[in-house]
Amino acid sequence: MADIAIIGGGAAGAALFGALLNLDDHATVYWVTGAATHGRGVAYATHDDHHLLNVRAGGMGLYVDQDEEFVQHAVRDQASVRPTDFLPRRLFGDFVEAQLRSRMASAEKRERRFSVHASEALRVDPHIHGYEILLANHETLRADAVILAVGALSPRPLRTVSAHALASGAYELNPWNLTQRIRAPRRLIVIGTGLTAVDTLLSASTQWPDAELVAVSRHGQLPFVHPTLPAQSYPLQSQLNAALLASDGTAPMLRAIRHALHEAPEVDWRSLIDGMRPINATLWQGLSLARRRQFLRHARWIWEASRHRTAPRSAETIQQLRDEGRLQVHAARVLAVDGQGPLDVTVRARANQVMSTLQADLVVQATGLDTAVAFTEHALLSQLIEDGLAVADPLQLGVSAHPDGRLINARGDVQPGLYAIGSLLRGNLWECTAMPEIRAAAHALAAALVANHPISAAPAATMTA
Ligand SMILES: Cc1cc2nc3c(=O)[nH]c(=O)nc-3n(C[C@H](O)[C@H](O)[C@H](O)COP(=O)(O)OP(=O)(O)OC[C@H]3O[C@@H](n4cnc5c(N)ncnc54)[C@H](O)[C@@H]3O)c2cc1C
Repeated sequence: MADIAIIGGGAAGAALFGALLNLDDHATVYWVTGAATHGRGVAYATHDDHHLLNVRAGGMGLYVDQDEEFVQHAVRDQASVRPTDFLPRRLFGDFVEAQLRSRMASAEKRERRFSVHASEALRVDPHIHGYEILLANHETLRADAVILAVGALSPRPLRTVSAHALASGAYELNPWNLTQRIRAPRRLIVIGTGLTAVDTLLSASTQWPDAELVAVSRHGQLPFVHPTLPAQSYPLQSQLNAALLASDGTAPMLRAIRHALHEAPEVDWRSLIDGMRPINATLWQGLSLARRRQFLRHARWIWEASRHRTAPRSAETIQQLRDEGRLQVHAARVLAVDGQGPLDVTVRARANQVMSTLQADLVVQATGLDTAVAFTEHALLSQLIEDGLAVADPLQLGVSAHPDGRLINARGDVQPGLYAIGSLLRGNLWECTAMPEIRAAAHALAAALVANHPISAAPAATMTA
């Protein structure tokens, strides 16, 4: 018998938990969810209906072996829903909760053993038959396999932000906390121009209709927008993907993409980028560490903007705010954030290197996923690293892992029975944070966990370095 513990109560944990409950097995599945509502995690906990999914409704789901389509579920809430729509993220959170309830009810009927623990996992220690997990509520669980589904880490302040600024209350590290702020700022500066920054600007523009909004990032590049209806697939995608897989490095890859677009000007570039989705992890795994670093330094900003696009309705509102002069977007590096409120934000413009200082009553950091586990204050990850059970990815993109999700320990060996899913695997898979990838990974991992048992946990690594 191989009991399994999933740590993390977001959509990745939910997808794996549901997939495991559906497989008949004698083992117990423990789901350690933390305090937040089960299954919603960071992305789907929002109540703001301006926060839209960036995947069409038809592409969203929790399980590969779906009980019910998300579109069917959403029809009950919205008058008319098409699979091509970009729906509020709140609706997907409702759907995840409903799916979980139904899988738990069916598992109970089949006497499938499971339990849900609404507490934080603080430690995972090797035990004679696997691992012992200590929860914040002082409970301990024993499991043969442990899966970390902890999502992205809590954001750390940028190095350029002074201690005064942090203590002032005018610097917001968590963009999802805006609704708790009562006083309207005259000027709000968002650091970042990705999808989270877009959501922040959309919320701020309705919450504070008179506030002046500024967004600043090194390239000032907002996410590109999805076409209103899905673009036709690129007919030569399989040839392009084969050429990309045979390329030696990112520069020849970019050349192959440019060449394909040049040869087929009628093709929407977005369908070509989407057509790469099945090979992105393989492309990433084929890059050396130096090439990955090069990609992160030079191409990441444009890749992220092209690959993780925004819903047309969100992009229209952002454009309207710009047209009305309420929102300015700057391509500039943030050199310093200082003061005791209002804050002084000193930037250097990308175009002419000129330095300037802007004042803001509120500065929001929206710089994207943090997966730098080496610097985290996350209790469990710090302990795993300290004890040598896990090591940081060399580019700080989560933890080092085997391609199947098993963690690599400080000795450089696979750590038996210890896995990760989702954002922590970015160093391994690069594209592994969106639902289409997560639910496929959850399905495969659930099948492997059940097929492999009893999962033997060899003696764990101890800190050697
Ligand atoms: C703002 C935003 C919008 C997004 N929009 C989309 C979209 O439209 N479509 C799409 O496909 N993807 C989207 N994504 C990607 C998103 O990351 C995934 O869809 C998915 O929600 C990731 O879930 P997760 O469980 O990996 O992480 P999270 O949502 O971060 O959940 C992890 C959970 O684990 C908990 N946890 C952490 N440590 C512990 C511990 N020690 N013990 C117990 N619990 C712990 C956390 O509190 C958290 O609740 C979006 C992401 C964000 C941030």
